[in-house]
Amino acid sequence: MKSICVFCGSSSGKNPLYGKAARELGKLLAEKYITLVYGGSNVGLMGVLADSNIQSGGINIGIMPKSIAELEIAHTNLTELILVDNMFDRKQKMAELSDGFIALPGGFGTLDELTEVLTYSQLRIYDKPIGVLNTDGYFDHFLKFLDHTVEEGFVRMEHRQNIIVSAEPENLIKKMHYYQPVHIGKWIEDIKEEKRIN
Ligand code: AMP
Repeated sequence: MKSICVFCGSSSGKNPLYGKAARELGKLLAEKYITLVYGGSNVGLMGVLADSNIQSGGINIGIMPKSIAELEIAHTNLTELILVDNMFDRKQKMAELSDGFIALPGGFGTLDELTEVLTYSQLRIYDKPIGVLNTDGYFDHFLKFLDHTVEEGFVRMEHRQNIIVSAEPENLIKKMHYYQPVHIGKWIEDIKEEKRIN
């Protein structure tokens, strides 16, 4: 992987371990010569992540809609800041420039970005690994809910299992390195079969 897109909070969260994880990941990406692609902001965990990456000599690309940049929260020390027209273009650009995705703790924006890439991965529009950095169990409830979606027949087990989870940045990147995408053929056939039965 030459570049990884990181989704994370525009807030810092209450637990200091979230900031610690963002700092560790920023540094690790720089040390591994993996370009950081992210939302381009200097606030919250995004700011912590980018500052750490910059301090460690990393290459970083921020992608931000012009309307958000006008709020003066764009990071001014990035290798590159790409301004786009809207949130949709931003997500497309983030995906285009990245070989994988990592979600750190965050709110609606982070969950939106994470679930969008999961959906695209399910359809094999992207064949890129998706990692969840489960710092101090932040994503435990979300992952448990995803288990429920499998139990209730809305998410397929293989797609749930495709999500790479670790509480530790180095281990997460290592697991992402060995990622193998799920074949789409069987899944589509299963859905058609369900339709025939119902
Ligand atoms: P949230 O988790 O709701 O704080 O949203 C953070 C995620 O959504 C980040 O990964 C960003 O890509 C995007 N985002 C939301 N708010 C901002 C912001 N103020 N500046 C830059 N990106 C943002």
